[in-house]
Amino acid sequence: ALSPISLLGAGAMGTALARAWLAAGHPVTVWNRTPARAEALAAEGAAVAASAAEAVAANRLVVVCLLDDASVGEALAGADLAGRDLVNLTTDTPAQGRARAAWATERGARFLDGGIMAVPPMIGAAQSGAYVFYSGSAGLFEEHRDVLAVPAGTVYVGADAGFAALHDVALLSAMSGMFAGILHAFALVRREDIAPSELAPLLVSWLGAMAPMAHQAAAQLESGDYGKGVVSNLAMQVAGNATLLATAQEQGVSPELLTPYMTLMERRLADGHGEEDTTGVVELLLAPQEGG
Ligand code: NDP
Repeated sequence: ALSPISLLGAGAMGTALARAWLAAGHPVTVWNRTPARAEALAAEGAAVAASAAEAVAANRLVVVCLLDDASVGEALAGADLAGRDLVNLTTDTPAQGRARAAWATERGARFLDGGIMAVPPMIGAAQSGAYVFYSGSAGLFEEHRDVLAVPAGTVYVGADAGFAALHDVALLSAMSGMFAGILHAFALVRREDIAPSELAPLLVSWLGAMAPMAHQAAAQLESGDYGKGVVSNLAMQVAGNATLLATAQEQGVSPELLTPYMTLMERRLADGHGEEDTTGVVELLLAPQEGG
């Protein structure tokens, strides 16, 4: 028989996870704070637990997918975690992941934190590219990796329980900058006879062509030589920024999504790093903040 899973949380993500396991034939016991939200899953074959403690007692493998770290603490407060394998797929910070690991270990459980790199429709869908970063107990991961691989791919990033969240947030933070740039680009053409649907494919191919520059930045960070292989040096890029800002002004578009990054590039140039790549901006981000 396929191994059974207890799942706490039948929100959008929890429901998608439960459906993937049910579809693969795994018995699922689900609990949700608002019972009505678990009804659809009951109709699809899930057992519904009356309390979080009851769900935890039902199976050794317990997966938690709630709103935030505080709701995890609240939901599990009355549960006996001794001997459980707890997998927390709730989005949290690295410090919250580490604290939750210590908290679970004190209560006799093995613990794995997860960061889901997907939206619910990608869960359980073939070839969707969905995966989950995991960190914490390697023993737990090894023992349950086949079950964990049912809803999405698995990427184990180390025994430090904070690393799943750190990887998750690093990628989401990079995405934030990318979407900021995309919105600025759409704003630039908004008042012209250029359809957003004409610009979109150009954005996709341009960003796809530029993204591999991350490898070059990595090589520069690892060697400590920010001039290594530079093709577009900082002095040239700062000069180019003036054209980006002037165009924004001509088009009546606020530069506020661009200026924080440009300001850092100017500071780095003023510090005498004009011949290097922009990668050296990382040094400014790591520098202690004034008054901090
Ligand atoms: P939803 O808002 O759909 O569901 C939130 C869930 O948390 C519900 O089950 C809700 O119960 C429960 N909950 C909230 N507060 C408490 C509490 N104090 N005690 C017990 N249960 C509580 O969110 P999602 O399912 O989309 O997200 C769940 C997790 O997955 C989040 O951490 C999110 O960041 C992460 N995630 C979500 C993605 C997405 O695109 N949706 C993508 C990647 C990660 P109730 O029904 O009773 O309110």
